Amino acid sequence: MRWFQLTLLGLALAGPARGEDIVDVLRRSQQVRLDAMPLAADGPRADTVRRSFAQLRHALPADVAVELRVVSGGTLAETLHGRIVVANESLADLPEGARLFVLAHELGHVASDHWQQMGAVYRHWVPGEVTPQTTDPVANQLGREASATSHRQEFEADAYALRVLRTLGRPSEDAFAVFRSSTLQQDTATHPGTRKRIASLRAAQAGVISGSDAE
Ligand SMILES: [Zn+2]
Repeated sequence: MRWFQLTLLGLALAGPARGEDIVDVLRRSQQVRLDAMPLAADGPRADTVRRSFAQLRHALPADVAVELRVVSGGTLAETLHGRIVVANESLADLPEGARLFVLAHELGHVASDHWQQMGAVYRHWVPGEVTPQTTDPVANQLGREASATSHRQEFEADAYALRVLRTLGRPSEDAFAVFRSSTLQQDTATHPGTRKRIASLRAAQAGVISGSDAE
């Protein structure tokens, strides 16, 4: 989720409308992002992404609201509004295991209520109306906590995806394939770097294996 950087940027550039609270501002920022992403044309690539998503959807309880939007640009995959998974049609070009991992990671954000958690972090620091007077003094602390929360959520979504892949009978190595095939990323405000994500996945994998041994 790269949205809080964008949101902070949005706050600085556009400014909130009068009376908006911080979650309204976040929501508006996500909608702007969503509207800017071009929908993919119907065809075999979009169908491949939809099929993988449908396969994973069964891992979620039926009452969890989630929607898939296949796009042709703007992102590889991300979750907006806590329930709209945006997936690039280029995911169709990945090996199936890697594609399933990326999509399952996004479903992990949905299933774990990450959007609501992040909203609560923002609201804790900016409880009322959004104005420079209410945001400027807490921007650093809010930024730090939002960043730490986002990193934790990334690790959680990775671990979730690993579990889902195992329930589908996929080898754990599918989970690592994505990181191996892309360039090494450093930490960003929202995402832990590749090495940390692999280390966290390894720990989750060890937990899953020792957990199943104990049964
Ligand atoms: Zn994520």
